[in-house]
Amino acid sequence: MRKPLIAGNWKMNGSRNSIAELLGGVSAGLAVLDEKIDVVVCPPFAYLAQVVNAVNESRIQVGGQNLSSHSPGAYTGEIAAEMLVDQGCRYVIVGHSERRTLYGEVDEIVALKSRVASQATLIPIICVGENLEERDQNRTIEVVRRQLLAVLQENEGRLFSGAVVAYEPVWAIGTGRTATPEQAQEVHTEIRNTIGETDSEGAREVRILYGGSVKPENVEALFSCPDIDGGLIGGASLVASDFLSICKAAEN
Ligand code: PEP
Repeated sequence: MRKPLIAGNWKMNGSRNSIAELLGGVSAGLAVLDEKIDVVVCPPFAYLAQVVNAVNESRIQVGGQNLSSHSPGAYTGEIAAEMLVDQGCRYVIVGHSERRTLYGEVDEIVALKSRVASQATLIPIICVGENLEERDQNRTIEVVRRQLLAVLQENEGRLFSGAVVAYEPVWAIGTGRTATPEQAQEVHTEIRNTIGETDSEGAREVRILYGGSVKPENVEALFSCPDIDGGLIGGASLVASDFLSICKAAEN
């Protein structure tokens, strides 16, 4: 049985005050739910310490939004995996489409970062997904397989232990457009099968999240799909009531 996971990607949003308010709302709401799911929030680096302190007594876990592929040293502006662990992070998002498109993170870098995260005992949430042009050209599966195979090859065909995969069609991120449950399930099946070609245990155990304009209104249909094991949530994770509704849907 795979335990569902809901991860909030706050991106470059928030202030000390807004984060205190958001976390207060989310922790209070989660306190009355069963502990059937894992809940993670991924704040900007600047607020990691504040968030780790604030969630101390709650079931919320914390993740980074990115990490360096290097060990600590002369890399101005970067954050090492060891530093995320030292701050109290358990997870890290790797290869988000904004990192791939805006910061040139190619498949090999995403694969390397997944390895570095895993070696530092962080759980990588590895993002894959096609852009609109690729979907229109019927290349979705080809693109997602290529992104995933790069990660698997980095570890001799096996998924890094405990790693999570997030399928995020780029055309659905922050656009209000969501993949239909059928479209998402098709790609999630393909992701599981691709991992299963070289790592059958990894394929069975991997949690595959869907991400891309998940909202309280569309979450139930998405989470009813057998291969959707939770969500990576952007915009809706910044609104406590929306994030909680999504967590509740994942518990059912
Ligand atoms: C994301 O950034 O990972 C994401 C899924 O964003 P949104 O939910 O806003 O589409």
